[in-house]
Amino acid sequence: MTEKHDDMTTKNTPMDAGPRHLVRLRLTITGQVQGVGFRPFVYRTAREAGLTGAVWNDPSGVVIEVQGPEHVARNFPDLLLDRLPPLARITSLEVGEAEPVAREEGFVIATSSSGQGHSVLISPETATCADCVAEIMDPCDRRHRYPFTNCTNCGPRYTITRRIPYDRDKTSMACFPMCPACQAEYDDPMDRRFHAQPNACPRCGPRVWLAGQKGDVLARNDDALLETANLLARGAVLAVKGLGGFHLACDAGDPEAVDALRSRKNRRDKPLAVMVPDLRTARRLARVSRAEAELLTGHVRPIVLLKAEGDSPLAPAVAPDTDYIGVMLPYTPLHHVLLADFARAASGEIPALVMTSGNLSADPICLGNREALDRLSGIADAWLLHDRDILIRTDDSVVRVLPETGRTQFLRRARGYTPSPVFLAQDGPCVLGTGPELKNTLCVTKKDQAFVSQHIGDMENPATLGFFAEIAAHLPMILETGPQLVVHDLHPDYLTTRWAGSQANLPTKALQHHFAHIHAVLAENRHLGPVLGLALDGTGYGGDGTIWGGEFLVVDNQTLEHDRAGHLAHVRLPGGEAAIREPWRIAQAFLHDLGIRNGPWPWLEDFGQASRVVSQMLDKGINSPPTSSCGRLFDAVAAMLGLADTITYEGQAAIRLEHAQDTSVTDAYPLKSRKAGPMLVADTHELFAMIHGDVLNNVPARTIARRFHLGLARGLAEAAAGLAADRGLATVALSGGCLLNLTLATELPRLLGKAGLNVLTHRHLPPGDGCISLGQAAWGRRFLAAHRA
Ligand code: ZN
Ligand code: ZN
Ligand code: FE
Repeated sequence: MTEKHDDMTTKNTPMDAGPRHLVRLRLTITGQVQGVGFRPFVYRTAREAGLTGAVWNDPSGVVIEVQGPEHVARNFPDLLLDRLPPLARITSLEVGEAEPVAREEGFVIATSSSGQGHSVLISPETATCADCVAEIMDPCDRRHRYPFTNCTNCGPRYTITRRIPYDRDKTSMACFPMCPACQAEYDDPMDRRFHAQPNACPRCGPRVWLAGQKGDVLARNDDALLETANLLARGAVLAVKGLGGFHLACDAGDPEAVDALRSRKNRRDKPLAVMVPDLRTARRLARVSRAEAELLTGHVRPIVLLKAEGDSPLAPAVAPDTDYIGVMLPYTPLHHVLLADFARAASGEIPALVMTSGNLSADPICLGNREALDRLSGIADAWLLHDRDILIRTDDSVVRVLPETGRTQFLRRARGYTPSPVFLAQDGPCVLGTGPELKNTLCVTKKDQAFVSQHIGDMENPATLGFFAEIAAHLPMILETGPQLVVHDLHPDYLTTRWAGSQANLPTKALQHHFAHIHAVLAENRHLGPVLGLALDGTGYGGDGTIWGGEFLVVDNQTLEHDRAGHLAHVRLPGGEAAIREPWRIAQAFLHDLGIRNGPWPWLEDFGQASRVVSQMLDKGINSPPTSSCGRLFDAVAAMLGLADTITYEGQAAIRLEHAQDTSVTDAYPLKSRKAGPMLVADTHELFAMIHGDVLNNVPARTIARRFHLGLARGLAEAAAGLAADRGLATVALSGGCLLNLTLATELPRLLGKAGLNVLTHRHLPPGDGCISLGQAAWGRRFLAAHRA
């Protein structure tokens, strides 16, 4: 499979003309150009064009000097840009003249100067390329079925890199010296594995084995892979060590296996992702659009949410609340071999494996072999392990394609995307944003780039805080930068706030959660200047004794003006946190505010006694903090319709409510806004009263769910348009976890656009709390700039 060029030396233009007829250009290139086959690519391109010169890495990036006839040399930058290797990302390319060199012989890859201050970016993980897949499937190839096959175009990067520059001895491949055959590939500029740092083969590279409950070895190498597939086909739950952590795997078509995994992992309803061997199999689960197919088969291969169609061959428990299923294709050689073996071994209808992250609900994903054996005992029946260490844990990314616009929306940005930067509008100082409490990420900026970490998890325990601290040290180190400011949430008791305070000698600032949401959208869109921000969210600490989450915010990221211009009407959360887990409490709070004390409420059967206690709490105002949260409104409506008394994962009630909609219904409940002092308040109580009335009149839940969604979108758009006109604003920025609701995510931009407004939405990060750290950091840079001037 290796590409061989027989014209390595023959194509050079003979130097019959003297050096004075030649042009020599010097190209300086920055971006993701290390560890992606960039220098060999330059070498091949220059040789084919008949140019002489050299290419080398230097602290500013990659430098190329090319010499030859004027028109050939001047065309060279375009030639490079046209044919860029799949993983290379260029952020800048400067071209200058250089003094021609007399009697230069050919084009060479020069040794790198390994100075400090590298502007090169570590590449994210990349799915196995087609060439490598062909090798592992070829019985005659020396890498047949080898689960760690990779090349300069694919394989692990960020998860195995300790430090930069990205060289083998700074990765977890350091302990695997290459065999002569691998070394020869590594040294050959014409080989696909030239300078492929993780290059390996069955002779010299990492190995897999299958372990039992006590860590005892059940099978090794190829036998381990075959046995894993056999166990899965027989209904076992396997822990599978992968690229950025462990997966828990089982046969997705086997209801008993899925139930076993769910009950052992204590994950009742939250949708589970599945992996299928190829696009053809994915199409048996859902209709796959072209954009979705590209995501599924591309070089990242995230989990893509697809709308299931017809009778699913998957066990119903894979995704009980929704008709969207998370599907991914194999992205490592191990997955390719495992899925192929499983397809042969399984007798079920469809070769699909549940592949869910191997952690106990709130803990970060497991990393080490011992840790996995320990923490996943009681969940897994056996462990497929290997001896290549994972240095940086990274979960699978989750995306979906928004209908109508065809844009990719992130639900979780991790493997394959981190540590690629988000490009900002301006240069600025290095700032660290600590992110939110739940679904944490952190962010470090450098010059005009923001590096948002992978999904870290819920910052509720020491294990997650440990992971957070690890990334907070690792990210600035590989970027060779140091923060001058730490920006954290306004909540004084968050672990991240305390961590910020414990950073000696570093100034800290607090930023309210929903202002951070809006700053994140602005940063991603490189928008400068004032906007009306709509933060439609779960909950965030408001700092005024209320919990925010449905906010109209005037934000100017140049003057740093922050003004809360409006919000959804307050409703109380009887029992505080308990109301988030038990949405019926919020429904009852709405009814209480409306003066409705009795009724045939769906939750009375299960929660009669608790319901009476909630009534008393509301009467006396005990432990019932007011909130303007949009997410809690969804919860209350879902509970009112009997769709979710209690929830077992975040967003469950809203997911069921969205799923329940009868999309043929076009009329909507009115959501009116009124002025309360300087504040605009959207009257959600009136909307709730209409829902209550329709429930009493036996209007189908599907109709009510639809009227609610449309009413909310229309009411919010109207209020936003009014506010924007009042304040002379032309742009509206949308953020917050409620924009994961497809109806809001498509209706709001449409309605606001129709009202003549410029609409900004997230492009590179999730609208949920994964974007908070970026918003904090972006705001912090502006804050520093303003206070230095
Ligand atoms: Zn490859
Ligand atoms: Zn080897
Ligand atoms: Fe949020």
